Formats: sequence, C-alpha cells, structure tokens
Amino acid sequence: MAFCDVVGHQRPLQILGRVIDTGRVHHAYLFTGMEGIGKRLVALNMAKALNCVDQTGEACDHCRSCQLMEKGMHPDLILINPTGESIKIEQIRELQRSIAFKPYEARWRVILVDRAEQLTREAANALLKTLEEPPPRTVLILVAIAVEGLPPTVLSRCQRIRFNPLSQEEAKKVLIDRLSAEEISILAPLAGGSPGRALQMNREEVTQVKGLLLSALSPSLNQRLHVARELAHEEGWGKLFLEILGGWLRDLIIYHETKEEGRLLNCDLLEEIKKVAPCRQIEGLLRDFWSLHEIQQGIEAHGNLQLSLENALLGIGGS
Ligand SMILES: [Zn+2]
Repeated sequence: MAFCDVVGHQRPLQILGRVIDTGRVHHAYLFTGMEGIGKRLVALNMAKALNCVDQTGEACDHCRSCQLMEKGMHPDLILINPTGESIKIEQIRELQRSIAFKPYEARWRVILVDRAEQLTREAANALLKTLEEPPPRTVLILVAIAVEGLPPTVLSRCQRIRFNPLSQEEAKKVLIDRLSAEEISILAPLAGGSPGRALQMNREEVTQVKGLLLSALSPSLNQRLHVARELAHEEGWGKLFLEILGGWLRDLIIYHETKEEGRLLNCDLLEEIKKVAPCRQIEGLLRDFWSLHEIQQGIEAHGNLQLSLENALLGIGGS
C-alpha cells in the first residue's frame, strides 16, 4: 500500500508528499482527527515513502524496506501503542534507550506514537526530551484523536496536520470490500465519515434498532410510547436510536430543501424520505432536529433515558 491507495485526505497527502519530495523533513508531526479515518495508515505510508529504495516520494511496495515496513518488521520503524488505558513512562524510557544509537539501515527512523492523547503526563514530559533534542535521521509521528490531553510544550514542537472525516462516498469506497452494500447503507450514515467506526459497530444491533424507526414515528402515540419503552429496556439501544433519528431528520431537511437524493445518508429509507419530507414544513423539521439535539445532551448529563426517549418520540413529526 502507498499514498496513492489511501482514500481521501488529499490535503494532508499533498503536504506530506511535498515533505518527502523536498527532503525537508520536520523532526516531529502530529496527525489529528477522528478515530478510524486512516491517520495511522498515512503515517505508516509516510514511513515507507521516506525509506523506499526508489526515492520517488512514494512507496514502491516491492523493495526490502517497503516489504519490511508493510509487515511491521522494519527495525527502524518503532510503534508505540497504549498498553491498557495509557502510554506509560516506561514505554517512553525504553524508546529513548533504543534510539540512543543510529538507525540500523533506514534513511529515516520513524517512531509512530498511536493514540498519543493517552500519554500519561509523565510519559508526555519524558517524550518532550526527545522532541527537544531529536536524534539525527529520526522522525516522530504522533497520531491523536484529540489534542486536549497533550501538554502545550509537546504540541508546540510538532508540525500539526489535521485529518477530516471522509465524505460518505469515500467512506463507502473504503468499506466496499469489507461489508455488503446493505450493511454499508445501514452503518455508514452512523459512522460520521469514519470507516473504522462503521467496522466496529454491531451490525445486528444497528439493524434491529433501525428497524424500529418507522414504528417509532407511527401516528399512534401509544405505539410510540411502546417503542420508547423497548428502546430504554435494552442496553445501548436508546442512544443509538436517537443517533439514527438524528440522521433521519437530517435527511428529511436535506431532501425538503434540495431534493438531491445523492446527499442523503439513509439511502435504504429513500422511499420513506421522499414520501414524508414534502408533507412537513421546514420550520417543524428544524424544531424537531434541535429539540432532539437538546434531548441527547440531556441524556449525556445523566437524564432519565426512558423519559427522554418518550419526549423525543412524542414531540417529533408535527407540522
Ligand atoms: Zn520501496
């Protein structure tokens, strides 16, 4: 795999391609963005491209260096992952001992610290020493979902590269070999542009919960209350359902305003969306959307789940 095989992330790839082409490699990078979108994959491909024998700015995927990197067996590619909940100071000390010597064979030794936001304070402070006095021919790539946990002293020494969630089309392209078309249409709308998140979801559960959407919008209020009770009863179903409901309302708003089917997330509900959207006023749809958002926030603040679900289902679908 090489940069050209990475789906999406045009801007970060442009920046990194230029870095490799010009040889002006910074000693530390920080890749940030939501989980499961390919930051680590890009970091690994950067390590390959930096060290590929061909030196074209891309990984050839055939030379010894590329092959060892691909298998994660290159002696100059050092991967640091959280052990348990965090990356501990012992891991950073061990890293520092191992990089006291020159790289074994690579042009650039690459240290990839994945989930860097999970560095303990002590570990981050220890890593700062390496960032302040980087060993020659060594590149550190910190990969993080959020930067809040990282000390400003670490942040200021890294060149930050932001990764955005993938578009729906890009996410589908990544998922096409791993999931059926039906699974993609159900999971992708909930994954928010993260194929990794889509792959982690419990497909059976999402299908079951999504199956309740139309009965939850039934004209019968009694039926709605019944669904609310069913959702509150099963662990994790309530919050998942509200996310699905949010996607449904979003689609109704988009279709109401644009009639563009290509922009809808829930392609499996296209016929229902086309039927319901014209019967609603945009003001009512927007009101539903925002009150759902408030209900979700209320649940996060430890509100009563069943009551919140009942409020959501009784309040939605007016004019
Ligand atoms: Zn190569």
